[in-house]
Amino acid sequence: MVRAEKSIKKRVEGREVMTTLNQDMNLLSFVNDDVWEELGRQREKRGVQRQMNEEWLPILGEEFGEVCQALQKDKAWSKQTDKGDLYAELIQVAAVAMSWAAQVREGKR
Ligand SMILES: [Mg+2]
Repeated sequence: MVRAEKSIKKRVEGREVMTTLNQDMNLLSFVNDDVWEELGRQREKRGVQRQMNEEWLPILGEEFGEVCQALQKDKAWSKQTDKGDLYAELIQVAAVAMSWAAQVREGKR
């Protein structure tokens, strides 16, 4: 007997969204591809980065700040220079965090 697939029900921005675990894993797989693509762009631009934790923090902080900008893009208090693509900014946060995490893991070997 096939077990019923679990589903995740959430209320997002006023509407109910039902996602099955398979759909969620597919989505995460696409997001993962986009993070790898962004990592490739970052490597092309800056090479493999190795720096102090104190140097990583403002880089990640800047990317996080751009996520915050994207969230306030359509608000009355937004600025013209605010980043507008929430998804792209989240992918950049993930890519920077991954690079930093790789360095931390490298140090644990
Ligand atoms: Mg960014």
